[in-house]
Amino acid sequence: MLDTLPLLKKIYFPPIKRKNVTILQINLGYRCNQQCLHCHVNAGPKRTEEMSHRVLLHTLEFIKNNHIKVVDLTGGAPEMHPDFLFLIKTLKAMSVKVIDRCNLTILNEPGYESLATSLADNNIEVVASMPCYLEENVNKQRGNGVFIRSIEALRQLNQLGYGQADSSRVLNLVYNPQGASLSPDQLSLERDYKKFLLEKFDIVFNQLFTITNVPVKRFGSMLMSNSELIPYMDLLQSAHQNNNLEEVMCRYQLSIDWQGYIYDCDFNQMLDLPLKKQAQKLHISQLNIKDVDNKDIVVAGHCYACTAGKGSSCGGVLNE
Ligand code: SF4
Ligand code: SF4
Repeated sequence: MLDTLPLLKKIYFPPIKRKNVTILQINLGYRCNQQCLHCHVNAGPKRTEEMSHRVLLHTLEFIKNNHIKVVDLTGGAPEMHPDFLFLIKTLKAMSVKVIDRCNLTILNEPGYESLATSLADNNIEVVASMPCYLEENVNKQRGNGVFIRSIEALRQLNQLGYGQADSSRVLNLVYNPQGASLSPDQLSLERDYKKFLLEKFDIVFNQLFTITNVPVKRFGSMLMSNSELIPYMDLLQSAHQNNNLEEVMCRYQLSIDWQGYIYDCDFNQMLDLPLKKQAQKLHISQLNIKDVDNKDIVVAGHCYACTAGKGSSCGGVLNE
């Protein structure tokens, strides 16, 4: 795989500092039942990295001691972690809001038949990848058969109340462009998704988040091998909006990897750009929130993916 970091490091990005941390994004491991082209994690069925129970307990202690309000679970497919149910039940008991970044097809994998019900029973907010409402585009990016399995999973979630107007079970969908381009307008695209999915499949959801592809790992490597990395970086930089700097997600969240090391965000995690204290990577077991609040964020060229246009984060655009 080609590494984009040497080029990204040469690109200037304005310095930014963290505000205060309220969200912890936990990457439970790199195993996934899918192997998508745009994946910035390089996840797949053969990856074996996953968080140990010991690191999970350190993480829960950190959440409790530092009054973290929101935990965002990601991977790979976070639901494939053997402690997933233990984790979501423990967080529910701690009154922490939990977001599950779900690829949808995991809900109909053999052995995961009761997963959707467990998500519903524990009030887990589902943020689900659905990079297009057209079958051909989804299958091209995520693999053959993924679209129809995603539709089945969405129906299952709707039957449990997810995305329904009179329900507190939240189902948000994520769009990302097929390649080296910016997303269309989030609200207009949400209207198109809602109309199409309702009319064609009787599916409802709450919000659509448009997310800009970040040029790291598998997606970055693909850009490099197609000689598209430099034009893509030019596109992101030319669309940069200073006002997005105030709202980028690293200002109020931290990302933790499967080994318990701390990063400003999931993308820095994938580029192995950790937070450091002296020469050492910071680990969740030693982390004091005062070590990270109001401190400099590690930035490089990939950060323009967060500030281009209306901005981009795990929760969609920054400035509607
Ligand atoms: S993009 Fe998501 S679903 Fe696809 S391989 Fe990566 S982690 Fe898995
Ligand atoms: S990639 Fe985005 S979230 Fe990560 S450090 Fe850069 S600006 Fe912050």
